[in-house]
Amino acid sequence: MAALADALELESALKRINEALPSPQREDVALPDAASRIAFEEVLSPMDLPSFDNSAMDGYAVRAEDTAATNSSQPVRLRNRGILAAGESFSGELGPGECLRLFTGAPLPAGTNAVVMQEDARPDAAGADVISIVAPVTPWENVRFRGEDVKRGQRLCGRGQRLGFGHLALLAATGHATIAVGKPPAVSVLATGSELREPGAPLLHGQIYESNRAALRGLIAAVGPLPRLAPIVADTLVETRNSLQEAFASSDMVISCGGVSVGEFDFVKRAFEDLGGCLEFWRVNIRPGRPFVFGRLGERFLFGLPGNPVSAVVTFLLLVRPALLRWQGAADCHLPRTAGILAQPLQNHGERRHFVRVRIDESGMVHPTGTQASHILNSLAAANGLVDLPPQAKLSPGDKTPVLLFEPPGSEFKL
Ligand code: AMP
Ligand code: MG
Repeated sequence: MAALADALELESALKRINEALPSPQREDVALPDAASRIAFEEVLSPMDLPSFDNSAMDGYAVRAEDTAATNSSQPVRLRNRGILAAGESFSGELGPGECLRLFTGAPLPAGTNAVVMQEDARPDAAGADVISIVAPVTPWENVRFRGEDVKRGQRLCGRGQRLGFGHLALLAATGHATIAVGKPPAVSVLATGSELREPGAPLLHGQIYESNRAALRGLIAAVGPLPRLAPIVADTLVETRNSLQEAFASSDMVISCGGVSVGEFDFVKRAFEDLGGCLEFWRVNIRPGRPFVFGRLGERFLFGLPGNPVSAVVTFLLLVRPALLRWQGAADCHLPRTAGILAQPLQNHGERRHFVRVRIDESGMVHPTGTQASHILNSLAAANGLVDLPPQAKLSPGDKTPVLLFEPPGSEFKL
């Protein structure tokens, strides 16, 4: 029990969580549904992209050499062999002195090697099928080449990679209707606390509105699954046990908040053990968020966050978010990190690593967002990142510091 009660360093806690998680499972999803999901395997292109030489312009396909001597006072006259829209194909071959009206994306006809844009071409009085070209083109001008974007066999995405919209466009353009991604866990979120009320309900003195589920739902959904939000749980052993039991019946991961400290009303650990769960650890040496429970019930997992709203968010970002991503096979599970320069001093008088709420602006200046106590939501809402400040550290304005980003840098919220 002594080992269990010792606070773990953040990295050891992450390692313990990683080692406990099952290996990722594959799920095939329609491509438009795969945004932000994690590629289960490397995908190679089955084709060249574009798959044929085609026109980059609305204009006329020509033999470039036919236009070499042309200018606006001495146009060259070419005979137009027809009209070709994108999606159509021309079966013939053009000879010297000929051209073909075509549109952006239409395949380049055999015998031609350039496209004159339509602004440099005019109808000619000599006949309905005669076109005057008023400017020369060089060979292959305004032509998009087969394979210039992607070569057959080229890697489109790697195993464990998060799929952005660009990857989805690339996969669709190379004919993929579905893609294998990591299957996300089914997740439930439950909030414990007899003082908690649903936002919108009347409050008696001493009661507060429950706010963690609202924050956590979006944070969870941003890395995969849309969680189920369980009703508020009163601080009794029976209610906590029932609620955990119900959540585990339909979830791979249960994320609870509150009730994990050492008070008489903190029932999460005991209720979980009553259900047969095994506590792996329940303290991490960080601020905010020292009480943090990780437990295992067969192949299902409990992440017990502290109730204080900032502690809940910070422990989620540092310990649960990586687990959600790892579950799906992500190669990179940590918060994005960016370089910043402190605008104000920062000091950690304590013995634990402090994750300080900051806002990094577009020029890379890092501003602490105010009071750092773990119930202060205002400084959380104003922040877009965290600075990992070691015990006893003292940083001065102008010092370089990495920032762990949880929102993109921006200036919409003025300090
Ligand atoms: P606990 O971790 O249960 O001891 O709660 C610590 C503090 O956070 C207490 O002041 C609680 O009232 C508050 N708290 C716990 N859960 C929530 C919640 N879901 N929403 C807002 N505040 C909470
Ligand atoms: Mg509580």
